[in-house]
Amino acid sequence: MIKPLNKKLVKKIADFLPDGKRKKFLAGVDLLNQCIEAEEWIPHASRKVESAFYQGLARSPFKSDYSAKDRKAQEEAWQLSHCISFGGGFSGKNLDTAIKTFYEYCERWPSYTAHGKPKPSFPVPEDIVRAWVELANQKTDAVMFLNLSRPKVKITDIGLSPKVTKTLKEMELDIDIRTIKSAIKYRYVHAVDEKTGEKLHRMNGEPLMVLEAYVEFSNGAVHNATRFQNPGCCEACGKPIPSRFFAPVEAKDRKSGKQIAMWIGTDCAKNIFGVKDLGVKK
Ligand SMILES: [Zn+2]
Repeated sequence: MIKPLNKKLVKKIADFLPDGKRKKFLAGVDLLNQCIEAEEWIPHASRKVESAFYQGLARSPFKSDYSAKDRKAQEEAWQLSHCISFGGGFSGKNLDTAIKTFYEYCERWPSYTAHGKPKPSFPVPEDIVRAWVELANQKTDAVMFLNLSRPKVKITDIGLSPKVTKTLKEMELDIDIRTIKSAIKYRYVHAVDEKTGEKLHRMNGEPLMVLEAYVEFSNGAVHNATRFQNPGCCEACGKPIPSRFFAPVEAKDRKSGKQIAMWIGTDCAKNIFGVKDLGVKK
């Protein structure tokens, strides 16, 4: 389960950031926490969340030393430098090594002293850098979770228009539109990279669990009850659904008193029943 970003760390970073960055940072964190709570992206939130971190903690001065003996330590420091400047997760393996190498570089500043320029400073204490890395990692985990989880079905009250009434009548059922519900349920599964098939992990190496949709109609729901039962067609209006994406919905039939299970095209689901859903392959 993905948790909201750690409050203490958020405060620590917010207190450190200059006014201009602080506002944007806190707004992005707040938005992300709302999305984590809802377990799905709020419209337009993704871009704001990314830009809250992309502005960075500070400008990192680090440059890789290609003559250094310990290439791994240089790589770790470079990953840290990238996280400090651009707020992506720290994708190195050893944060302690990264921090040690990074600060050693800042003390020496080879590229500056060589030119006889005054020695600049990197004005960020180590504990602030550690807090930023932890938050950037938490943010990266949450963004992966939100990107890979199935958006929730939304039920809206659509009311009875002539079009809705006509469709319901043609189904030859007496559907009580107030009882409409989706048959989509959600479960946690270990996320998989769609291209490579590899299992995905959080920044700390734990499995990345995301929400997957599955279909489960109520016990005793009656299938094949509407007048339209051609394979590949919408069971509400009879039209073919070339995409093969259907919304599984159910509702009470007042005539028989039974719960009716239906596979409906996503357009009909939205416009007739007020069920907004991506649909699933039948
Ligand atoms: Zn339809």
